[in-house]
Amino acid sequence: MRGALGGPRVLLRRLREVMAEPVSAQQRLDKIVVLIAANMVAEVCSLYVLRVDGTLELYATEGLNPQAVHQTVMRSGEGLVGHVAKEANPINLSNAQSHPKFSYRPETGEEIYHSFLGVPILRAGNTLGVLVVQNRAHRTYSEEEEEALQTAAMVLAEMIASGELSAIAKPGAEPAVRRTLHLTGLALSDGIGLGHVVLHEPRIVVTNFIADDVHNELKRLDEAVEMLRADLDVLLESREMGDAGEHRDVLEAYRMFAHDRGWRHKLHEAVLTGLTAEAAVERVQSDTRARMMRQTDPYLRERLHDLDDLAHRLMRQLTGQDLAPSKEQLPENAILVARSMGPAALLDYDRKRLRGLVLEEGGTTSHVTIVARALGIAAIGQIENATGMVDPGDAIIVDGSTGDVHVRPPADIEAAYAERVRLRARRQAQYQALRDKPCITKDGQAIQLMLNAGLVVDLPYIAETGAAGIGLFRTELQFMVAQAFPRTSEQLLLYRAVLDAAGDRPVTFRTLDIGGDKVLPYMRAIEEENPALGWRAIRLGLDRPGLLRSQVRALLKAAGGRELRMMFPMIASVEEFDQAKAVVERELTHLRRHGHSLPERVHIGTMVEVPALLFQLDELTERVDFLSVGSNDLVQFMFAADRGNTRVSDRFDPISAPVLRALKSIVDTAKAHGKPVTLCGELASNPLGAIALAAIGYRMMSVTPSAIGPVKAALLQVDTQRVARFLSPLLEHPMGCAGLRSRLADFVADQGVQL
Ligand code: PEP
Ligand code: MG
Repeated sequence: MRGALGGPRVLLRRLREVMAEPVSAQQRLDKIVVLIAANMVAEVCSLYVLRVDGTLELYATEGLNPQAVHQTVMRSGEGLVGHVAKEANPINLSNAQSHPKFSYRPETGEEIYHSFLGVPILRAGNTLGVLVVQNRAHRTYSEEEEEALQTAAMVLAEMIASGELSAIAKPGAEPAVRRTLHLTGLALSDGIGLGHVVLHEPRIVVTNFIADDVHNELKRLDEAVEMLRADLDVLLESREMGDAGEHRDVLEAYRMFAHDRGWRHKLHEAVLTGLTAEAAVERVQSDTRARMMRQTDPYLRERLHDLDDLAHRLMRQLTGQDLAPSKEQLPENAILVARSMGPAALLDYDRKRLRGLVLEEGGTTSHVTIVARALGIAAIGQIENATGMVDPGDAIIVDGSTGDVHVRPPADIEAAYAERVRLRARRQAQYQALRDKPCITKDGQAIQLMLNAGLVVDLPYIAETGAAGIGLFRTELQFMVAQAFPRTSEQLLLYRAVLDAAGDRPVTFRTLDIGGDKVLPYMRAIEEENPALGWRAIRLGLDRPGLLRSQVRALLKAAGGRELRMMFPMIASVEEFDQAKAVVERELTHLRRHGHSLPERVHIGTMVEVPALLFQLDELTERVDFLSVGSNDLVQFMFAADRGNTRVSDRFDPISAPVLRALKSIVDTAKAHGKPVTLCGELASNPLGAIALAAIGYRMMSVTPSAIGPVKAALLQVDTQRVARFLSPLLEHPMGCAGLRSRLADFVADQGVQL
């Protein structure tokens, strides 16, 4: 049965006229439901709008009791209408009353209607309401009619999103489209950001929904699809792609979908209902997003993501709009929202205006996370459909310490966060005042506080924090954020810039620590059962000496005429250190023979982060120029507890007798041999940890930039000898691991130390 009078195109044309009329919001809605009912030969057409409280309110009806408008309210999931909203899927029934979800509302007078067609009103995958038609007869609505109703729903979605309905909403029960959202994701980078949404890849706003000439729209759509296919072919065939691994697989998947008949058919159908090509793409994209959110199978989700991306590209093709936001014109207090983002893309934005980052994907070890931390901006990942739930310019708060995101926050939440930001700023100002003050404890021990760094963006922190130098420069970060393997010349430029920025303060470079969780996107990953215990760091460096040699050469050249300090990661035996040192000596000889300017002096040290070294300490210390303790890995290996796995990583405490005993044996041995020792793991970035380290004898610590202030403030108040006297018996007669942290915290608090 073909019910639509004049078909969907006539309906759309009429809708366009109604949208342009200068009438009130309620009058417009009333006209729209009459129009739809007439066009679809339905006795009833009703519009339900999702409200901020999550319920659905009847906003307009043709056919049901007009008294029920703004009175009938349903919970999401309640009745057929609630079910359509919850599942974001149409329901088409010839006998609605026999459906288990049917629930009867006497005030509406709907008991006489048997057939029911309800479609969700979707925008960017979010449900904004439900549009329903009903008939007395047991009628089966055709696929075409379902399409037509969905198309009308799309026009309504834009009307709801425009905010026009707020004028007729009850206070506190406004349409959900502008509602406050509290979302929780994965905390990636600490800090609090208050600001306004900037979409990293802005949605293209479709303003013209209704086609003047359907054939022309079909032609535009087909041409755009052809161009898209050709673009993908060019990308895939370009030589640069080489074997770019994962990226290539994604493009292959895109190409497959771009040739998929089903996808094209769907787009055609949408245009045939009278939509413009752009509006058709948006329709299909919104459906895909809604399905994606309900999909739990990770493989299928990924495919839906691909389809979503593809539609995005097609939209760009159709509109000729470039999606990249203008990075120079970033508004003040920008909070970027993106599905995912590469590290280089983040670095492109103006740091001074960025306050935060919200990602739909992203993990604690992703490269973009590393960069966000280095930039000191709050970042949160794993927020599903984040990009669909916000609009550019929306007020938003990100709390990088907890993973909370507040979109369009209420005034009290905003005020509370603004207060926290002020408090942080005040504390920061206090730390800033300590910047030039030497770090000397109450009992006169000078402690050198240095920085952990790894990217160019870290360099200004040397001056900002007044650090004594860079105690750990993680060279792998440059490799991790790059698109391709950095050439020796590029490495050299970075190392030279680091030395220049540090001036006469020492810098300790660590050779590449890749493998484990530190993967290079452009290097073929090797499947390993236990990557943390696998072929990584110096193991890879010794087995593939070309890589290590080129890095060492870049370091030696960069430090020409100056002192160079370098160390190796994950050394597990004295022999490994000897072999790595031999690589440096060979390079030195090579450069000398070719007349290059050499460093004034080369200090060669090692990280101590593999427990086996604890039993070779004397032999090792004799050979090295210095030691640097990596407590992150040392603790993970001592307790056999993966540092990146939150189920086990907090199970054991580094401020405990076994760890402090091990750390003390290292500092004691270094002292006995007259060799300097630094601790560069996270333990030193924690004020209580730093106090414990100072008490057991550490005089050099390297910490994350934001920790310099708090750690220095703590150490200035401490009498290390007193703490040492307190700790000493506890370390000699440890009673298991538990309790040491809290006892130490109580003790220093009693001493009047404020942390
Ligand atoms: C460590 O293991 O403590 C360390 C400083 O190295 P990374 O965190 O880079 O592994
Ligand atoms: Mg380590």
